[in-house]
This record gives sequence, C-alpha cells and structure tokens, in this order.
Amino acid sequence: MHTPLCGHAVGEPRAYVEVAIAKGMTEMGFADHLPLSMYDQPGYAMRRHEVDGYVDAIQSLAREYAADIRILLGGEVDFFEETVEADAALLAAYPFDYAIGSVHFVGPGFPYDHPDSKDEYAQFGIDEVYIASFELAAKAAETGLFRVIGHLDLAKKHGHRPVDEQRVAAAAAHALRAIATAGSALELNTAGWRKPVGEVYPSPGLLAEAAELGISLTFGSDAHDPLDVGADFDRASVLARACGYQRVLRLSTGAAEEL
Ligand code: ZN
Ligand code: FE
Repeated sequence: MHTPLCGHAVGEPRAYVEVAIAKGMTEMGFADHLPLSMYDQPGYAMRRHEVDGYVDAIQSLAREYAADIRILLGGEVDFFEETVEADAALLAAYPFDYAIGSVHFVGPGFPYDHPDSKDEYAQFGIDEVYIASFELAAKAAETGLFRVIGHLDLAKKHGHRPVDEQRVAAAAAHALRAIATAGSALELNTAGWRKPVGEVYPSPGLLAEAAELGISLTFGSDAHDPLDVGADFDRASVLARACGYQRVLRLSTGAAEEL
C-alpha cells in the first residue's frame, strides 16, 4: 500500500495500519512509489530526499505495532530499462523487505495508467501499449531486483481491450514465462476492480496461466486510501482458487501458505 509521500494517496500511514488490524490481517506491506529514475515529476512518486523519512516512518510503525501486526518495508519501483543500476543502488541502500517492479510508462515517457492518458492510447496503439508493457515486465523480472511484479496487465485499466487478441496474448505469455524463469512472484492486485475496467490485475486467464507455470502469488490492494486496505481479499481468494492457486506467498518468510 501507499502513503501520501507519492503525491496521489491520502491518509496517514498509521491509518492504513489501523484498518489492516481491524480487518484481522496479520501482515501488511507498505510499497509506496520510490523515486522515479526517469520522468521525475511531482505527483507520481516520492522524491529522492524523501526516502529516508519514508523508511524511518514505516520502521517506527513496524516497531510500534509489532504486537498486533507484522509491517513490512517495501517499495514499488517504476521499471525503466535505462535505469536498472540506479534502481539497484537505491534498493540496496535501505533495508527493504521486498520490492515490487511495476511498469507505468511505455515508449518514450507515455504514462499509460495516468487518468489523463486514456485518450492518448489511440495514438500509441492499444496493442502496442499492452505489448510494450509486457515486454518491460519481462525485463523487470529478468533483473532479479523484484520479489514481485506488480499489476501485470495494467494496460487495461481504462477499459481499452486488445485489438489483435492473439498477438497481445502471446506477449503476455512470454512475460509470464520470463517471470517464472526469474522466480519473481505475481501480484494479484484488487485495484482493477475499482477502476473502469472492473477486472483484477492480472486477468483470470493470465492468473490461470501463471498458476500453470508455478508462479508464486501475492495479494495487493494497492491502497492509496486507508479505506481500500485489504479491499476484496475474500473475493480475490475465491478467484485465485478458481484459477488454480492453492497457495499464496507470505513475503515475510518466503513460505507458501494455504489460501
Ligand atoms: Zn500509485
Ligand atoms: Fe503501480
């Protein structure tokens, strides 16, 4: 989940923790947007000088609430091929429990999931957005920097559906194979149910393929508001089971647990 440091989330981190405890969760992770190594502009992510404060804030909450819930320190990294070394250095500079690798930009700086971008898909090409984002997700996994690959088919967020379904499905399948080979986990991200597309990331079809490939699964509500902490996790469990998953990865231990 996120914090207001990213510039587009609301609620103090403490409020997220209180909701998680009230929902009976035993473990939660903050994975706010870490500084963008490219296209650094306000509103997308915390800035470089804010990372120390983020890490301190999450670590002190983890200590304060240790008796009630295990709080992990994570980060969501915007993946760019050009900045792998800088991102690796940032991740190594702090005691992160895990990092999520996510693709929010394709081509030369097209922030496809941004609300203002939905009308620009036509220019870029809907299939091109999907395919480019899948290719980058595969490359993110191949770096080995990310325990989890975030919201794999985020390209559908605004409701754009592939034109050439087979071509897009082939690109997705290639990304899943790369993720499986790299040993990264996939995030079942329930935020998609709250977006125009009205479908979880990744889609049930991709989840079934991922289960088939033996890719580990984590659950994420991608909360940008305390109200969304753990949103729809019951529904997500049912879906994961229907897609062939029997286990979910616990990030604190690396153990797979019964769903
Ligand atoms: Zn965000
Ligand atoms: Fe994200």
